[in-house]
Amino acid sequence: MTDRKNVRPTAELQAADLAHHLHPFTDHTELAGEGGPRIITHGEGVWLWDSEGRRLLDGMAGLWCVNIGYGRPELGEVARRQMDRLAYYNTFFKTSHEPVVELSERLAGLLPDGLDHVFFANSGSEANDTAVRLVRNYWARHGQPERHVIISRRHAYHGSTILAASLGGMASMHDIPGIPVPGIVHAEPPYSWEAGADLDDPEFGARAADAVEEAILRAGADSVAAFIGEPVMGAGGVIVPPPGYWKRVQEICDRYGILLICDEVICGFGRMGEWFGAQSYAIRPDVMTMAKGLSSGYQPISAVAINARVAEPLLDRVGRFPHGFTYSGHPVAAAVALENLDIMARENLLGHVRVTAAPALQTGLATLRDHPLVGEVRGAGLVAALELTADKASRRPFDPAGSVATRVRDLCFERGLVTRAVREGLVFAPPLVISQDEVGELVTILKSCLDDVW
Ligand code: PLP
Repeated sequence: MTDRKNVRPTAELQAADLAHHLHPFTDHTELAGEGGPRIITHGEGVWLWDSEGRRLLDGMAGLWCVNIGYGRPELGEVARRQMDRLAYYNTFFKTSHEPVVELSERLAGLLPDGLDHVFFANSGSEANDTAVRLVRNYWARHGQPERHVIISRRHAYHGSTILAASLGGMASMHDIPGIPVPGIVHAEPPYSWEAGADLDDPEFGARAADAVEEAILRAGADSVAAFIGEPVMGAGGVIVPPPGYWKRVQEICDRYGILLICDEVICGFGRMGEWFGAQSYAIRPDVMTMAKGLSSGYQPISAVAINARVAEPLLDRVGRFPHGFTYSGHPVAAAVALENLDIMARENLLGHVRVTAAPALQTGLATLRDHPLVGEVRGAGLVAALELTADKASRRPFDPAGSVATRVRDLCFERGLVTRAVREGLVFAPPLVISQDEVGELVTILKSCLDDVW
């Protein structure tokens, strides 16, 4: 067991962090007001520990990514072996290496039929950038360069590069000049709570899918290259598709000949109880982007899989696809991803999600449905959200917006549970390995925090 203690005292680390470290998505004045960040030292299963020895149940699997849980020594051993053998080589100049070949082959075997070709990158954002370049390349090579528009959805999250942030549909992400870039049109999301509809209303499912068609027509059908969507929208607040939604979206894409990109950065690798969310919702994507659970966050790696239609201009025509990253298909990341997939298969984590973890999480959170602060509890597989409201009947938000969700989140953090606040909601995506008892602890802490904030 490696030493779990920091070398430097907590206060010194916090001061140095405040002085020099820029945090993603963080209000630095707030962080300074709190005396600096909580320093996390180590993890085991679904648990994290901070430098003061306090234990936290990670209800978010890091950032929706530590699917196999923390503290798996096998991954470190594999990384070490691969570093000793070949720490780095690229695959740009007609070279390859065993880990990337094996990982491509393994993914092709797991992916829905037809997605046989895989490109590697380092993050979900890069995977989505790559997907857009691939679909625009497809139409250009078919003599239709004007087909460049990507349809996405309001509240979507597809990453944080300029293009990925533009694909995303969160207003706060567009609050920087130049974003969104041109060529992206946002449709209304299938967000029943916001639309005043019932979660399981098929009529709402049809109406929400028709919003995709409206966006296509708004853009001009002849200019649309692709639609991008997560099977279940995660960071946008766990927006679960209503019945019939994906079937109809698929029909709309087919009718207009539009390519369908499934962003599986959260849903992929077991979170929905299947390898991919596309399988849970019978979606037939032309392009699929993956990251997070591919390595359970143990190494930065992402992938884009494409079908024969999108691959044809790359494989059968003369000419380079001018795109790639220094670390595309990094051998250490690929080796770690392979071991991660081995663990998922060996431990039947998909079965665990389906039979134990997801039912425990969904039924556990459902017990909070009648709490005075809770308007709705929704989820799919091992993601879930509590929508908080100032008034259940009118679905009125709190004033100021999001203030109650933030207070509950902060209290949970103090009491040893990591959750995340999104608008008026709290979202959950624990490691897939979470046990029934651990879900029980999650619900108990959450309930005590809801009670005390109320
Ligand atoms: N796509 C989805 C659905 C995500 O949830 C995220 C990150 O949360 C991304 C893309 C971006 O991934 P990354 O942060 O690795 O760039």
